[in-house]
Amino acid sequence: MSRAEIASKKEPSPPFNFQRARDALLEWFATNGRRFPWRDDPSPYRVWISEIMLQQTTTRTVLGYFERFLKRFPNVESLAASSEEETLMYWEGLGYYRRARSLRAAAVEIVERFDARFPSEYADVLSLPGVGRYAAGAIMSFGFDKRFPILEANTTRLHARLTGLLEETTKSSSQRLLWKFAEDWLPRETKRRVSGCYRNINGALTDLGRLVCSPVGPRCEACPLVEQCVANRLGLQEQTPVLKKKSEPIKRVDVALLIVRADLKRSDKVGEVIGASKSPSDVLLIRRPRNALWAGLWDFPRFEVVDSRFVKAKCFSDDASLSERLQFFLEEEVGAPPNDYRVGRTVATTRHSVTRYRVELHVCQLAGTSVNLVRAAEKTLFDSLASSVDSGERDELETKLRDPSFYARQAEELRWVPISSLSDYPLSSPGRRVAERLARFVS
Ligand code: SF4
Repeated sequence: MSRAEIASKKEPSPPFNFQRARDALLEWFATNGRRFPWRDDPSPYRVWISEIMLQQTTTRTVLGYFERFLKRFPNVESLAASSEEETLMYWEGLGYYRRARSLRAAAVEIVERFDARFPSEYADVLSLPGVGRYAAGAIMSFGFDKRFPILEANTTRLHARLTGLLEETTKSSSQRLLWKFAEDWLPRETKRRVSGCYRNINGALTDLGRLVCSPVGPRCEACPLVEQCVANRLGLQEQTPVLKKKSEPIKRVDVALLIVRADLKRSDKVGEVIGASKSPSDVLLIRRPRNALWAGLWDFPRFEVVDSRFVKAKCFSDDASLSERLQFFLEEEVGAPPNDYRVGRTVATTRHSVTRYRVELHVCQLAGTSVNLVRAAEKTLFDSLASSVDSGERDELETKLRDPSFYARQAEELRWVPISSLSDYPLSSPGRRVAERLARFVS
């Protein structure tokens, strides 16, 4: 239906009767509302953890992580006292790892600024790392039962349809209208208000958006708000909400280096400096640098293949072309003499999506002298670092890289790890898949 056709059908809508809508909504919620552990015991701490986990992640996935995380970190103090590495370990697989680092940083702040008591003022909650307007509203309403609106994917869709909004929902004018509508659902504070009122209304709106007003084929016949819904009255369910177009995924080819201690030609100082383990089956891992993707997690040294002559379609269809690319990387980019390394076989090829990239990852075994292999790992670390800083800092890094003692200082970022201990390390998701294959290989 064109906008002109819609406009011709559109009569001025009667004002939305929130009181009537609330009664119908809460009656529906009493029998249809979902039960979650963070709803059964909605302490601000538990609500906070659940809300951060639920960002960009489905409820079903979060359910598998929530209890385990809460068992290990039952309160703010235990989370604040943990290391970042341990927090990441309990987050591994949930993705968007910045959330885990922010959670821990916020826990430290709560201990230091609020004497380990979860803050109950909106401005204080909003000031915590990783907490935006939505999460702050959710914590205030679900955790403290205070009058704060929320607007996430489900309620955005529901409110856009109820109001017949035909503008893109991310536009600032749409956001103003949607937040105002979300707030109008919540009755003003009175001494006689029912306990749990704000928590229930926001929970009910989220559930109705998720269970009934679904993205495709909303079940209007089962909707308690059907009488007042503009989209239903005008048949606009498919036209609203108007979402921002997603950009096309970008294809990317990465190579990961499988460097096994047994494959080192000889030991030297560079090889010795990184880690105490001395098992021949140790593999070399790097810690992903801050600001890079999977920051703080461990991974196999990897680099992106950006040279057009190597990225061409089917370029890596056989080991020979991959070997040629690795040769280029080692000789031209790392500076390894040709006799000082040997490219082994490709042990795995995996495909995964991350942010807007579709990544094809080739894991290739590499043998040689430790100085060159470690330097190769360092080079991948450097490239990850360089991609996350500006050009001035990059020049500084290049200078540091030429200084041999730079490797020693990076010892914390490189580690030999026995294959049998890979499960003790928080790994990037593709790194974990590779680790699982290696574990099967050696067992
Ligand atoms: S009537 Fe239909 S379109 Fe309107 S809110 Fe309910 S489910 Fe959504």
